[in-house]
Amino acid sequence: MLFHRLNRALVRFGGGGLAARIVVLSLLLLLLVQAAGFGVVRSNIDRNARAQLASELRVGERVWQRLLDTQAQRLRQGAALLSADFGFRAAASSGDTATISSALDNHGARIGATVAALLDTNFEPRAVHASTTHALTSVLHDMAISLARENGGNRMALIDGQPHQFVAVPLRAPQTIGWVVMGFPLGQTLVDDMHALSGLQVALLSKSSGAREHITATTLRSAIASTELLRQGAATDGSLLLDGDELFVHTVPQDAAGGSLRTLLMRSVADVAAPFRQVQVVLAAITLLGVLLFALGSAWMARRVTTPLRALVGASYRLGSGDYSQALEGTQRSDEIGELARAFDHMRVSIAAQEAEMRHLAFTDPLTNMPNRARFREVVRAAIATAERTRTEGAGAGAGAGAGVAVLMLDLDRFKHVNDVLGYAMGDRLLCSVAQRLTTQVVRHGDVVARLGGDEFALLLPEADEATARALAQRIADSFEHALTLDDQTVDLSAGVGIACWPDHADNADDLLVRAEVAMYAAKQRHEPSVVYDLAMDSSSALNLSLLSELRRAVDDGELRLYLQPKIALHSRRLVGAEGLVRWQHPQRGLVQPMDFIPFAEQTGFVRQLTLWIFEEAARHWHHLQAHGPVRISINLSTRDLLDLELPQKLNAILRRHGAPESGFCLEITESAIMDDPARAEATLNTLRTCGFKLSIDDFGTGYSSLAYLRKLPVNELKIDRSFVLGLQSNPDDAKIVRSTIDLAHNLGLSVVAEGIENEAVFAQLAALHCDEGQGYHMSRPLPLADFLGWAARWNASHMQIEKAAVEEAALA
Ligand code: C2E
Ligand code: CA
Ligand code: CA
Repeated sequence: MLFHRLNRALVRFGGGGLAARIVVLSLLLLLLVQAAGFGVVRSNIDRNARAQLASELRVGERVWQRLLDTQAQRLRQGAALLSADFGFRAAASSGDTATISSALDNHGARIGATVAALLDTNFEPRAVHASTTHALTSVLHDMAISLARENGGNRMALIDGQPHQFVAVPLRAPQTIGWVVMGFPLGQTLVDDMHALSGLQVALLSKSSGAREHITATTLRSAIASTELLRQGAATDGSLLLDGDELFVHTVPQDAAGGSLRTLLMRSVADVAAPFRQVQVVLAAITLLGVLLFALGSAWMARRVTTPLRALVGASYRLGSGDYSQALEGTQRSDEIGELARAFDHMRVSIAAQEAEMRHLAFTDPLTNMPNRARFREVVRAAIATAERTRTEGAGAGAGAGAGVAVLMLDLDRFKHVNDVLGYAMGDRLLCSVAQRLTTQVVRHGDVVARLGGDEFALLLPEADEATARALAQRIADSFEHALTLDDQTVDLSAGVGIACWPDHADNADDLLVRAEVAMYAAKQRHEPSVVYDLAMDSSSALNLSLLSELRRAVDDGELRLYLQPKIALHSRRLVGAEGLVRWQHPQRGLVQPMDFIPFAEQTGFVRQLTLWIFEEAARHWHHLQAHGPVRISINLSTRDLLDLELPQKLNAILRRHGAPESGFCLEITESAIMDDPARAEATLNTLRTCGFKLSIDDFGTGYSSLAYLRKLPVNELKIDRSFVLGLQSNPDDAKIVRSTIDLAHNLGLSVVAEGIENEAVFAQLAALHCDEGQGYHMSRPLPLADFLGWAARWNASHMQIEKAAVEEAALA
């Protein structure tokens, strides 16, 4: 309980657990040691006190005997004086009884003897002087005999219950004519003398034969103690508890005629132990002082350890929160804590350096050492923020609107081609030269040139208007007139530059960048060196404008959905495949259809990420989709995908990840995508075909390519565009086109898929034309994965019934 409270107090004092624990532990250890010492001392004191008591009592017995002897000596001297008295001797010889009596009386009284007697040679009393004579005669006779034999001893006897000491001296004239016997009462004086001599408590106990034992004399002052003593008896040596005081008792028995006599020598244990107890008190005081000093000392020590530790903890939190500015305390200490602090400080410095390095890397393009896309976005934001501030301040001062912010975005033409022909190392050097050129064109202080990635560069012109931006774009275009020379290789360069200005074209940095990019694509499409953004460029409506930046987030936040539309073998009506179609579950706009964002994604190149996403999603569920028989999944590729030389590799990696086979997929490519860059598309298609993918020409009939050309391509399937299929019944031209396409495709060894089947009649008509597969709302609209699986189960069930009915019909026929 006490420690609990102490601990709590220490916790408060130390401000943490460690200090308190150190203090409590050391105090506990100290107390343990002290308690052990205390126990040893205590048992020693006890043992010593008892040993000392025993020896004191033994010594006391000798003192007592000596005291009795001395008394006897005195008596004997008195008796000898009487027996030497001439008159007394004469009286004894003559038998003058009167003289004898008076001599005994006088002499005895002088030396304090209460009994004085003259005995004849046969030890019969001749004259006795005593205060009481009752029963004395026989006692005197017996005692005198033994005393005479001993010659010089003394004897005890109880006279009327009162102990007496007797001596006997011969009466010579010159031969022995009798004995002088003298008796002396033993009483309070004697025990008081004994107490004075030895410091022991004394009790003289006597017991006449046939009577109860009683205390003749004692130094015990209290009456209670005396009665207790009689009650407990103290038959042997040992300890007695008298009136709350423990006494050690030693019994000295005494021969006594006419009863028994014993002397109890006693000593209080407490008295003997008293000086030792004092030592104990001193020891306790020292312990208390020690505990106090120890507590203070260990608390101080603990503080010395924990205070810098806490400082280190605080420092590590600061480091954790990214604040590396503050140097650590305690680094100058020479102990382990100092070492720890130095190690920490070293860590702080190197982390700070690493962070600076990482920050640099994160915001710098390693090839050109220019700001990268992330950094560029930040500086554009900052520039807009500054411009906004100047505007509000300017408006307050009544001045006109301040300057805006212009962004130029630039994409090299045919850079991929350069890379392919001259190699990547050359490509890198070319990019560095372009960076160099752009930098030299920038003349204003504060303008920023950045490489956004690949062959895309951007320039920021703070406090600039459209005219300034146009002028710079012109200078850049002029500079590109001169071919670059690298190791005797001359490379003609051209680029499309898009310009967008804040606040005219966008009201925030992200939109400004998107619009500059849109303008850039327009420049490339129109083959103009530079184009300033205008609203008409965004494909359809204002809705599309912020789509790109949102689209980037949609992939990260998992807003895209994979929908599947079944492909059916027209002849057998079996489910054989499914086309993967993307949907965008927009948090505000709801389900966005692909036509509302795919064209835009294609324009910006973002469609490549989108393709990878949808392919990965399909690959992830591929095994699951095989539940109702083999289902090949078709995925749409865009122009941008076809131009990506690393596409086969990327698709491969995704399949590896999910353990799905290439043969389980068909890749749909539109005619127009191929026609954008036929040579490169062909190369990519060849690689994909070699990998094992099935390839399909999508939207066939909408482009200008001839079947003769398509024949050169490694494709397996031809998908008749849904516009022809939709018009199959109403438009005879469409019917003709469909029929001839099917025939020609079959001649080329391609299978034919018709998409856009909206009713059974079209289904039947296409089946009659030997079209291989069909896809359309008649069978099913594109469905989310779970719905698709449910649909497939139902479709297979009804298809089985139809098959069974057909078999039965055939059997009947
Ligand atoms: P597509 O590749 O020609 O896809 C077929 C489109 O026809 C789908 O439209 C489908 O819903 C629709 N369709 C199917 N059956 C019928 C029918 O019976 N009647 C009618 N009227 N239409 C039918 P969706 O899903 O809106 O996709 C439109 C286009 O968006 C696709 O045309 C494709 O070019 C593009 N797209 C969709 N998803 C992706 C994708 O993941 N990647 C790429 N690159 N493009 C995609
Ligand atoms: Ca398609
Ligand atoms: Ca199509």
